[in-house]
Amino acid sequence: MQGQRVQKTNEHLPGVKCVVSSCYYHKPGDYCSAEKIEIQPPYARDTDETDCATFIKA
Ligand code: SF4
Repeated sequence: MQGQRVQKTNEHLPGVKCVVSSCYYHKPGDYCSAEKIEIQPPYARDTDETDCATFIKA
């Protein structure tokens, strides 16, 4: 998904809480307005290793 902008919507992704307020898709209330998100990397071993690959700096 890198380099490929995901559509920003007027909705928020149900069930997703995101606190990354520096993200282009972040909405007040800790919501994500991306149409879809991708989490990376494969074979992560703990929480610290997993990140949202859809993130774009606001
Ligand atoms: S794209 Fe990822 S980092 Fe950005 S608001 Fe959505 S879940 Fe958070």
